[in-house]
Amino acid sequence: MTIAVTCLVAVAVIVFILGVRSRDLPQPEPESPFQHLDDRKAAIYENLRDLQFEYRLGKLSDEDYQNTKRDLQKELAGVLAEVDRLKVQLGVNGAAPPPVAAAKPVKAPGLVCPSCGAKFEKELKFCGECGKPMKVAQS
Ligand SMILES: [Zn+2]
Repeated sequence: MTIAVTCLVAVAVIVFILGVRSRDLPQPEPESPFQHLDDRKAAIYENLRDLQFEYRLGKLSDEDYQNTKRDLQKELAGVLAEVDRLKVQLGVNGAAPPPVAAAKPVKAPGLVCPSCGAKFEKELKFCGECGKPMKVAQS
């Protein structure tokens, strides 16, 4: 009976969390757009703690514990991902910036004409387009 009640509570909590999530930003938070996410994160942590506590007391079966824990962790991952997404959207520093392509390899002198910008496969002394010297490397 106790186990059944505990499971019921756990399910109710999950349903509640999912319900909160589906409402999804009813209105912008004036203080911090992360506030509701922080709240949700805290709630999930709390649920995980409760879950572990009850499991240690033997109120939960292994299976119930693992299933509920997995669901909570999935939910947590979702919240964390949303925080990251929000940070990127808002341009908050601290979030990992999108990977930038590696620096372009330095071109050998003579491949691009410094005068007209014409490109050549091989190094040339003089530009085939404008005839100006290619080896000029001012700077
Ligand atoms: Zn040229």
